[in-house]
Amino acid sequence: MFDDPQSPAWEPLLAVAWSARDHAHAPYSRFQVGAALLTSDGFIFGGCNVENAAYPLCLCAERGALSAAVAAGLQPGGLVAAVVVTDVAELTPPCGACRQALIEFAEGLPVLLANRRGRQLHRLENLLPHSFTGGHFR
Ligand SMILES: [Zn+2]
Repeated sequence: MFDDPQSPAWEPLLAVAWSARDHAHAPYSRFQVGAALLTSDGFIFGGCNVENAAYPLCLCAERGALSAAVAAGLQPGGLVAAVVVTDVAELTPPCGACRQALIEFAEGLPVLLANRRGRQLHRLENLLPHSFTGGHFR
């Protein structure tokens, strides 16, 4: 279902991500990003980037969505799929920090990148190979 970037299963996540993107607070970069995360209990959580005049405080869309999902009870292993949308020519992958944040909750997560013209499907473990996870504490 989430191994085909054209699958209709992506549509609800894309709708949430585009809607969240519309609310992005990006007055400095003008680079609006939306994200959506599907959890194993069937809920979809959206996020958008939230910039701040104090630049280090900027929050990415993916981690905003992740925070909402965790606040609703997401546990490690509970992420099913992720979407990241932007309205620029080149598809935009999650930044390194977001890749690390997401892999805490699903190492094999399918991540769909989309803009108004196309889609590209990745697996999180390929976006963040040899990742540092909780397994390293054991
Ligand atoms: Zn990020």
